[in-house]
Formats: sequence, C-alpha cells, structure tokens
Amino acid sequence: MKEFPGTTGLIMNEPLLWERGKKGRCGFSLPHRDVEPSPIDDDLVGDVPDIPDLSEVDVVRHYTRLSQWNFGVDSGMYPLGSCTMKYNPKINEKLSRAPGFAAAHPLLPEGLSQGTMKVMHELEGFLAEITGLDAVTLQPAAGAHGELTGMLVMHAYHTGRGYARSKIIVPDTAHGTNPASAALCGYRPIEVKSNEEGILSAEVIAGIMDEETAGIMVTNPNTLGLFEENIKEIAEVVHSKGGLVYCDGANMNAVMGIVDMGEMGVDIMHLNLHKTFSTPHGGGGPGSGPICVKKHLEPFLPVPRICEKEGIYSLAWDSPESIGKIQAFYGNFGIMVRAYCYILSMGRDLKTASQLAVLNANYIKEELKDTFHLPYDRPCMHECVFTDKFQEESKVTTLHMAKRLMDYGFHPPTIYFPLVVHGSIMIEPTETESKEDIDAFIETLKTVAQEARDNPDLVRTAPQNCKVKKLDETKAARHPCLTG
Ligand SMILES: *Cc1c(COP(=O)(O)O)cnc(C)c1O
Repeated sequence: MKEFPGTTGLIMNEPLLWERGKKGRCGFSLPHRDVEPSPIDDDLVGDVPDIPDLSEVDVVRHYTRLSQWNFGVDSGMYPLGSCTMKYNPKINEKLSRAPGFAAAHPLLPEGLSQGTMKVMHELEGFLAEITGLDAVTLQPAAGAHGELTGMLVMHAYHTGRGYARSKIIVPDTAHGTNPASAALCGYRPIEVKSNEEGILSAEVIAGIMDEETAGIMVTNPNTLGLFEENIKEIAEVVHSKGGLVYCDGANMNAVMGIVDMGEMGVDIMHLNLHKTFSTPHGGGGPGSGPICVKKHLEPFLPVPRICEKEGIYSLAWDSPESIGKIQAFYGNFGIMVRAYCYILSMGRDLKTASQLAVLNANYIKEELKDTFHLPYDRPCMHECVFTDKFQEESKVTTLHMAKRLMDYGFHPPTIYFPLVVHGSIMIEPTETESKEDIDAFIETLKTVAQEARDNPDLVRTAPQNCKVKKLDETKAARHPCLTG
C-alpha cells in the first residue's frame, strides 16, 4: 500500500492535568528543613487554588504531547490559499530575538535607538523598491489595518482637494476585508463583477467610475489567483476622473521582482509582511501590514516618519497633512526584523521565490484539472481554485474532501473562498515545498476523488484516523463548550 505522511500510531490520549495529578507528587526538590514546621494562619492563606500535584516528567510529557497534536508549517505542507503559509527560515526568528532588538523599548531616546530605526528605515526602502512605489509606513498591524490606513490616506487626499467623495469600487474578486475597510472609513463599496475570464475589464470600470467615486480597491493577483491584466487601463480610467487606485498586495508572493506596481498605476498598496516576507502566522497575529504610496501621497502617511540625515536617524512628527497615528508606537517591530533579514538574505532570489510559487501552483492546477472542476482554465499566479462540481453526483462536497485530506496527513486547503466560486477549493502551495511533497499532495487528492466515486460514505464521514473525529459543527456553534 502507498504510504502517506499521516499516521495514527503513537498519538497518545491526553487526560487533563487535574486527572493526571496525584496528591503529594512534586515537580521540584528543596533541601531538607532544619527547623520545626509551624502552621500558617488560615486567614493569611485564604482559598487555596485547585492546582494539581505533578512530577516534572508528568508536566513535560503532557505539554510535549499537546504540541505534537498541533499542525503548522514546521510539521508539514500547509496549502491554505490566500494565506501564503510558506516555510519561514529559522535564521529570521533567531535574529528577531537578538537582545538589542527584542528588548528595545519604544520609549528609549532616539540616540539609543539608532539600530532599530536604521532597520525600519532601510526596510521601508526595500519595500518601496520591491513594489515600485515611493514612500512607506510600517505602522499598520496587519493587512486589514493597512487597508484602513490606505483608505484614510485616500480620504485625506480627496478632502485636501476639496471634496472627500462617497463611494469606492470593489470587485467581486477582492478580499473580504476590502469592502469592510472602505466602509469603516465611510466609503460605500460598489461591487463590480469580473468577466468570464475571472478578471476586471476596463470598460466595466469606465461605466461606473465618476467624480463621486474616490477610487478602486483591486486585489492583484486577485482572490481567484489570477493577475488583473487590465490594471493599467483601469488605472487610467480611475485617474481620469480624479480617483486613486488602491492595490491589496497581500498576494505579493506571486509577483516580487516581476511587476512594478507604480508603473501599473497603483497609488497606494499594502503588503502582508507576515505572509510574503517570512513571519509565522495564523492564530491571530502578530502581523504587519505596511502601506506603500506614490510620492504625492507621502504627506498623508501616519506620524512619526523615520528620517535619515548623514547617517543619523530621527522620528519626524511635523507632518501637518498626516492622518495621524494609527498604532501604538511604531508597529510590530519583531515582524519588521524578520522581513528585513528575509529580504537581505534572499536578495535577487525574491524573484525566483515568486517564480517558483507560481510554477508550483500551475503544476498543481495542470495535474488536478481532470480530477476536479477548474472554473477558470488559464495560467494562474501563486494559487489555483477548483470546485467540487465533478463530485456532485456522488454527493461528496468540498468540506467532506477537505476533512478526508486530514486522514492522509495533509492540512486542508482554503475552502468555500473565494465566494465568487461555488464550492471552491483554493490551493496555494508556495515556493517552499519540494516536488516530492507536492506530488504526494496531488496523489492524495486524486485518491480522495477516487474514494468519492467508489466509497462516498467513507469521505462523507471523514476524518476517521484523526485524533478528533467528525464534529457536529451545528452543535459546536449552537452550544459551544467554552470551559474545557
Ligand atoms: C490575508 C489577506 C488580507 C488580510 O490580511 P490580515 O493580515 O489577515 O488582516 C487582505 N487581503 C488579502 C488578499 C489577503 O490574502
């Protein structure tokens, strides 16, 4: 039988520490006392918390086992689309923990913070170069926060010209956070449909762009993993009515060193350092979502800006048109150090990384397009989107197949996103997976599709081999058990 990375052996059951503890057991040793014991006044002690008595080995094994139940990029392929779950080199972790960085206090005087400010200033320069834009702020704490910052900049720009405008164009292939960020800033998102090729056409934008519209928010590559080829013409249309082009650049992993966003007509964009530039993510942070802007929007960036003069770095607060501060201190500095080290160590190989990410996604797309329905059969960027249409006949859905993948030791891809595709299965392999691992993933998906035909019940009741079997999701949502 073919071997898959998943295993069911030697995964221990793990009782709670309270169940494992035994009165009088102890995890440390103290020297023998040489005085008589004297009772402690009960009033002083109060209610003693219920803490289990455990030996050292009890505690170490308990937590080591729990850590083995977890799944992450360090344990296997993580093909979650729209998330860029690439492997993050450990050297970046090590450097971000260097005491001079990790222990730097944000209230230290500038004279004692030259190193940290230099890292930030140089990182801003790298990101400007990578995107082809002119000025950068590192303050936003995540992608969506970058979007909000970008919207505030757009709002400040229009207000400065006399009128803030009220609407913004957001395509149906944009990330869900886009309309939310626009709305938070007071803009009414106007949805536009992408064409039959899965991208925007300039004519559609020309039909709705007017002087009440502040601009457009395009995710490029979009959430179908497709490059918005008409972006330049679209930008011309938007600019001709006085609007601005915002690009959601969370998918930059597909195009580093390949496209010049400034040249394409983008005025503002955010990056997700925690996706593209090597920071472990998932589970809610911390992240970093810098925004990059064209020269004419620089005065609106948040304060303080980091300035350099003759090798001396300082913080500049004097920026009358700035949207103000959008984050405590200067952003999530540890993430910046990781990105800085990653970019320096990759150098021109950043372009190769993007090329490999795109190659891997196209390889998966071609290998699986006879097995799963491919709604847009054209070259993709760093991710590809299938559906469960071929499995409909056997009444096997995307969710069933995602659960079955876990039985074989693979983290499921993103499912039911993007929303424009019914029953979507969105796969982003990233550049860090080897051909052998990608082949094993492809073979597993083919096996699952075969099972869907031959034994649909097996797939519908998956996972069978995992520690936790199929969950009653309705019950979990209606009657959540929050106390353990
Ligand atoms: C992940 C993502 C975001 C949101 O980023 P967060 O850091 O999670 O806020 C926005 N747009 C796209 C295209 C994304 O993939």
